[in-house]
Amino acid sequence: MNFQTLKIKLMMNGVKISNKALEYLQNWGKFYNDDYVTTTGVMIELNEDWFVTSHLNDNSEYKINLNKNVFVLEENGVELLQIKIWRPSEFMIKNLKNKFGLITNYVNAHFDRVRISPISGCNNHCAFCSMNAIKYKKNSIEEMDLALNVALQDERITHILISGGSPKLEDLEYLTQVYEYFCKNYSGYDIDVMMTPRGFNSYSDTSQYLNYIKHLKNIGVKGLSINLELYDSKLCSKYCPAKFEIGRKNYFKFLKLASKVFGKENVRSGLIVGLESIKQTLTAVKKICKCGCMPMLSPYIPYNNIGDYPSADFLIETLDKTQKLLNIYNTPLAPLCKKCRHNTL
Ligand code: SF4
Repeated sequence: MNFQTLKIKLMMNGVKISNKALEYLQNWGKFYNDDYVTTTGVMIELNEDWFVTSHLNDNSEYKINLNKNVFVLEENGVELLQIKIWRPSEFMIKNLKNKFGLITNYVNAHFDRVRISPISGCNNHCAFCSMNAIKYKKNSIEEMDLALNVALQDERITHILISGGSPKLEDLEYLTQVYEYFCKNYSGYDIDVMMTPRGFNSYSDTSQYLNYIKHLKNIGVKGLSINLELYDSKLCSKYCPAKFEIGRKNYFKFLKLASKVFGKENVRSGLIVGLESIKQTLTAVKKICKCGCMPMLSPYIPYNNIGDYPSADFLIETLDKTQKLLNIYNTPLAPLCKKCRHNTL
């Protein structure tokens, strides 16, 4: 069985659930994620190497069924393999609400990683992003800390990502305080930060980049995720205007510096695959490799009536061609964690 192809098809075509399996899953309290457009769905462990998040789709050729209390994946009615469904920790389910409201407003767990959101919503307003539906709010360290303590009761969690949305200019210094707090107080975990190129208090003052990156390294950040998203200028300006404004030149400058400070295997840059041509994606892959960083390929998940799911063939071709480039540049495809690849190629 080609697990890569199966994973891609599950990501793009989704999965349906038999009544028997659904009844069983509903006893868990919650069995699927609905926190963000690219992480929405049922989290499936195909085997110890392959993990995938698949959205619910009654028209999919794939179905999750239950056979003697074991989940099985079927393709057009034929059993393919036994699978495991990721079950949210009971502690998280029992403590879903605290004095600050839903803890999933602050933290969300995906397999072995927990994502902390210092900002609800996002100042960037990319057209295809579900964050736009959420009002911008700076989350307090107390709110996030309380929620993180609940999430970390789940012993399966081994690492942390401090993620977006992107902060307003006046909140940049606060974000640095957030990084400092969590790196100091949770030093037993590897902590990655997802961010746009910036300095201590400016997006545009590129002279701050190097010292800011060094500061992040010094406080204990393990790795950086600096997502270019789209290489095509027209599409980027249309869909991600704030990122377009930062400019590709500044992205690549930041990536180069980050690689120097953090090392190749600790800096990745995500690209959305399916909104632009394969040629544009491959050009971006090459540029990211030349900066000494790892590309990460995220299949486009349609939102806001923009575009459609790319075909599995398109994604497989992009992946194959990317792999050839990665071999030339001796660069691995990010993320390195197998479980964190549940929604990437
Ligand atoms: S920067 Fe990221 S989180 Fe913010 S709107 Fe764009 S895709 Fe969404």
